[in-house]
Amino acid sequence: MTVQELIDEGYTLHAGCKENTCLRTRPLDLIALRDRLGPEHGTLHHNLAPKLRCSTCGSKNVGLIVSPLTHGEIIRRESTSNLRR
Ligand SMILES: [Zn+2]
Repeated sequence: MTVQELIDEGYTLHAGCKENTCLRTRPLDLIALRDRLGPEHGTLHHNLAPKLRCSTCGSKNVGLIVSPLTHGEIIRRESTSNLRR
């Protein structure tokens, strides 16, 4: 998926530091990523991880966690599709 597709589908993206002394996870701002990398930039680990750095310890050993739609978003989409039937 691209950065734009994640935004459109309501996904959230978190970066998780893999250093054992840190392990800090923080949400990534997809809008800011799109502005910086472009809407067509891939969001797979090998696309994005090299661009990221842990803001706490400065490590580049960072993993990505993609979360699906938020609960509210799912409810909104279900009610929308019900209206179409
Ligand atoms: Zn860290």
